Parts: sequence; structure tokens; C-alpha cells
Amino acid sequence: MTRTVQKYGGSSVASADHLKRVAGLVAARAKAGEQMVVVVSAMGDTTDDLVDLAAQITSKPRAREMDMLLSTGEIVSSSLLSMALHEQGVDAVSLTGPQAGIRTDTAHARARIASIRAERLEGELTAGRVVIVAGFQGISDDGDLTTLGRGGSDTTAVALAAALDADRCEIYTDVAGIYTADPRVAPDARPLGDIAYDEMLELATTGARVMHARAVELGAIYGVEIFVKSSFNPDAPGTIIRRETIMEQGNKVRAIAHENRVGKVTVRGVPDRPGIAVGIFEPLAEAGISVDTIVQNASQERTTDLTFTVEPGDIEGAVEVIERLMPEIRAREVVTADNLGTVSIVGTGMATSPGYASKMFRALTDAGVNIEMISTGDIRITCVVEAARVADAVRALHAAFELDQA
Ligand code: ASP
Ligand code: MG
Repeated sequence: MTRTVQKYGGSSVASADHLKRVAGLVAARAKAGEQMVVVVSAMGDTTDDLVDLAAQITSKPRAREMDMLLSTGEIVSSSLLSMALHEQGVDAVSLTGPQAGIRTDTAHARARIASIRAERLEGELTAGRVVIVAGFQGISDDGDLTTLGRGGSDTTAVALAAALDADRCEIYTDVAGIYTADPRVAPDARPLGDIAYDEMLELATTGARVMHARAVELGAIYGVEIFVKSSFNPDAPGTIIRRETIMEQGNKVRAIAHENRVGKVTVRGVPDRPGIAVGIFEPLAEAGISVDTIVQNASQERTTDLTFTVEPGDIEGAVEVIERLMPEIRAREVVTADNLGTVSIVGTGMATSPGYASKMFRALTDAGVNIEMISTGDIRITCVVEAARVADAVRALHAAFELDQA
């Protein structure tokens, strides 16, 4: 018997009508004899609305209460989807993350799944029920509800597919798979038939919002092939995320990712001596601020400038940390900017062939886009550019690497 885990994102379950439609898709598969586990996100913008609501009460909500609040969004959509299935004559049961046996660590708002006790799930499946699981949540050893971080329902789905040894894992969203670039920015972008885990991971961490990065990571570890499809066009092929892609494609830039806004922090006049980078980046990491591109300028008169990018929301926190360190690091000043964005090219071929970087810089130069900072990985090159030029940069790179052609 085929066992399938599906996940429907917020836009796919945005209203009662959407839920009925999704119930129809699930019912068809259940009636065809598949064992179905369905993970749902909160309806539409529910999670954002809940965040706003909390902000109206307090600027410093405790993380535990935030998780109590945010987890309700997925409980609403899962129970409603279960009812919609009953209406279509399908036996279904909704489960919260804890009821589904999802155990996490205690890191509220960014909990990691520690284990899944699948007995209840297995029991429901054996009883012939469709199981609807509230995404993005679990229970910690302290017995508290936890959430997995924004977008975390993907991770719930892939983790369940691994734990239940599912035959298929399908992620339904509002676009027809993973595109060569964001089609809202590059109109000739096209969906990819397949993409490798490591490529997808790079895309997800450099701005492609289609998949939660940790879901891709889990997929890679447990060898779960992930089908990304549109719930509005479920018959379209979509994209398969898997270990290996067709060999010929291993030699190409596969896609362009972008980030509309990143923050930049520059620490000026840092003494150029050993230990200074540790002295700055360790405290930042401890404060939970993740730093992206880092550039250290050549030193002049034994001082240097250290520049790094962070999420715009982390600029303030980063400055606080560095100001606190000032007496120790003896830097001259710290300045920030938030009018920047990034463009990245991603493809496994880059690891082995030269020339990708120069082609990227040439394309940006020809488009009149100034490159502020550059960072490279094995299969990725990222340029920090002015936020206002991000869209032009994406289009220029999409054309230069001929991504409009299969
Ligand atoms: N509802 C949560 C969010 O909006 C989790 C998810 O959609 O995956 O971030
Ligand atoms: Mg959502």
C-alpha cells in the first residue's frame, strides 16, 4: 500500500473553500487506496496576524506564550480539514504536533525535532483513517508546546515522511515547483523538473522562500524525495528534490535566488590582531544573530574595517552587541545600512568549473549594477547589491546564464 505524506501551505488552505478543495484532493487519493498523512499550515496570513496581535499586548512576549499562541493557527486548519474530509465521506482525524508524537528540544520559536513517536499515527493509519497533522509544532521534554520556526510545516512533513517510511512526500504550495528565479521578478523563469538537495538548500538559505531550509536538510539526511507542487494545479509535474539530478545539468547554474532586504553592519577601525573576529562573532552568535556575508578590508595602519550582513530585523541587536564589546575590541565606530539586497547563483557545476564568478560579475556590470560585497560557497556565489537594483540583477543573471532555456 502506498503511504503518502502531503503538506499544504497557508495559501492552499486560506479559506473554507480552499479547505474543501484540498479535502477533495486528499479524498481522491485516500479513496484510491493510499494511506494519507496530511500536514497543514495555518490558514492564509493567520500566523502573521497572531504575531501582530501579540505585539498589541506586549513588545516582549515570553517565547513560551508565543509558541502557545502561534501553534493555534495550525490546530484550526487541521481540525477544519478533518471536518471537510468527513463531509466527503472520508474517515479522518486531526492531531496536534504533540498528539502526533513530535518531540522537540526546548528552544521556543526555533525548536528542532528530536524524535517522533509514531505509534498513534501508525494506529490511525491502520484503522484506515486519513491523519491530519498540525504543522510546525511539537512538545518539548518540559511538556511545553514548541514551534519549529516560521515556515516550519515543511519540516514537519519531511520529518513525518522519514519517521513513517513514506513512499511519497509532497509539498503543496501556490507555485508550480522550484523556479529558475522568482517568476514575479523574472517573468521568463520556469519550473525545474528536479533539483539536488544541496542546490535547494543553498537556494532556500539565500532567499528562495518555497521550502523551509531545514526540511531540505532532513530530506537529504533521510533520503526523502520531496515533490514540490502547486495545490492550484496539482496535475502539473512540479519539481522533485532529490540526491542526484540528471547528469547533464550538473554543469550549470540551476537557479537565481534573491533577498530584497539585508542589513549591513560595519565596524570601523578594528585593531588588526588575532582573536578580533572571534571576539566579535562569538558574542553575536550567542545573541542568536546569524551573520551572513563577512568582508574584512585590507588593514591600514594596523586597523581594519569589518563588514557583515544580517537580517534587517537583527541590525539593532547586532549594534547592541558590538557597542557592548567596544571597550574590549577598541574599534572606532559601528555604522549600519539597510538599503541592500542580495542575488545568488546556485548550481553544483560551480564546484568544478571556473568562470562562473567572472560571468556573474560581467552580467551585473553590463546591467549597471554595483557589487557591494561578494561571498562564495562550493556551489553558490552571492553578491550584495543596492536593494533598488535587486530585480534588475536577477533578470540580468537569469538571461546571462540562459535559464529561460531548458
Ligand atoms: N504557519 C507558520 C508560518 O506561517 C508555519 C508554516 O506556514 O509553515 O510560518
Ligand atoms: Mg504560513
